[in-house]
Amino acid sequence: MLKSKEELTSILFEIEKMFPNAGCELNYNNVFELLIAVMLSAQTTDKSVNIVTPELFKKYPNANALGSACVEDVKEIIKRIGLYSTKSKNIIETSKILAEKYNGEVPCDLYELMTLPGVGRKTANVVMSEGFKIPRIAVDTHVERVSKRLGLVDNNSSVLDVELKLMELIDETKWHKSHHLLLFFGRYFCLAKKPNCESCFYKNSCIYYNDKNLQD
Ligand code: SF4
Repeated sequence: MLKSKEELTSILFEIEKMFPNAGCELNYNNVFELLIAVMLSAQTTDKSVNIVTPELFKKYPNANALGSACVEDVKEIIKRIGLYSTKSKNIIETSKILAEKYNGEVPCDLYELMTLPGVGRKTANVVMSEGFKIPRIAVDTHVERVSKRLGLVDNNSSVLDVELKLMELIDETKWHKSHHLLLFFGRYFCLAKKPNCESCFYKNSCIYYNDKNLQD
């Protein structure tokens, strides 16, 4: 059964007790670096991204520099992260567009961000919310999974359905924090393969847990 605003508020309250410091784990100094770091983080841990970005940003500190970079050099710097070849091409191409079309700045517009190579809706939402402090909810694999397990959306919901439902259930002023809370809960507790159900505050209400126990 889908949850009400009040139920979700109390779920988020419990999650906040577990992760009072939930927040962005990518290191960055400005919105350009944030955009590039989020692009690099697809299907890779933030920790791995934080290992490669200091060298990348030291050598290519802005859109003009990265937009003119040699792809082989960028590949060499970021080669320890997944999909590094495609990501190298995308961050160079995106930087080139930022340099040529936006005077080197990152546009503060969800849909303009989504036109950049390698920038999908989730990345654009993170940049809007984290970089520009404009409330948005970014739905990644963790947020999608826990939203379904917590019964906030039904299991057939698309990523966009999840985003819209969360925006409906959560007050706009709490979107930024709630995104991080759901993400941390999924990343560190309600794990994809081995969720910590036995010690979870939610296990008695959790459809996923109770269905799984019935099957075992
Ligand atoms: S009971 Fe298990 S599956 Fe359900 S929310 Fe808690 S950790 Fe996740």
